[in-house]
Amino acid sequence: MLTSAKSLLEMAEDGGYAIGAFNVYNLEGALAVVAAAESQGCPAILQIHSASLEFGGDPLIALCLAAAESASAPMAVHLDHSTDHSEIDRVLAGGVNSIMADGSSLDYEANVTFTREIAELAHSQGGMVEAELGRLSGTEDTTVVAEYDAKMTDPEQAAEFVERTGVDSLAVCIGNVHGRYRGWPTLDFGRLEAIRDVVFVPLVLHGASGLPENMIERSIELGVRKFNVNTEVRSAYMESLSGELEGFNQPELLELMDSAVNAMKEVVAEKLRLFGFSGTE
Ligand SMILES: [Zn+2]
Repeated sequence: MLTSAKSLLEMAEDGGYAIGAFNVYNLEGALAVVAAAESQGCPAILQIHSASLEFGGDPLIALCLAAAESASAPMAVHLDHSTDHSEIDRVLAGGVNSIMADGSSLDYEANVTFTREIAELAHSQGGMVEAELGRLSGTEDTTVVAEYDAKMTDPEQAAEFVERTGVDSLAVCIGNVHGRYRGWPTLDFGRLEAIRDVVFVPLVLHGASGLPENMIERSIELGVRKFNVNTEVRSAYMESLSGELEGFNQPELLELMDSAVNAMKEVVAEKLRLFGFSGTE
């Protein structure tokens, strides 16, 4: 069933777990997330990245909303990493009311202004806004941030930012990266704890692909209520396609699609299990 991302985050807060948010690009992706959430009996979020929205347009929005509605598990649809006011207007008009307003490339005051405007707009339509403070390194679709441009979230600034912008959730930068980790991930849990002590909205961790189980658990203990996962799901899709096509049995298109859904579903279901939903809520 389609529900609001805000109510999912509230459920996660009450239950002490985190919601898995997965970037989807097409029908197979949406079906995989729905099937995984149903198999775990837990909520999940379908995310449309700004770059895939540019490709898929309104049909992609409608597809994700219909997939969420069709699910037996509670699901929400979210716009990921948007820097563009008109794009945000477009998804709000299309029925997606959970938005990540990404002003992290702007200087601090401009980020506050941009984020506050989007928060007011989304709130006026019953929606919610996630923002990011600090800046994540790595690559996600068309978003590329070099390591030297990355910036950790400052706890005091984060508290002030949330206060001034009125955002509903905050994505933190504590050593997490978009894409693949080079070597073993290092997360600054002291920083996360300091943020949690002064920021009173749910925290979000992007770049959850490749994070080991103990780091996921610790992040949840310290207030992370949403993990964004893209790379591992996308890789499962690509590997499934290339594996099928390298075989000699000339698969039918529907068989290819079915294999891709199953490959992604496995990854998503495993992540949802790690994110700690106990099924008792
Ligand atoms: Zn992200």
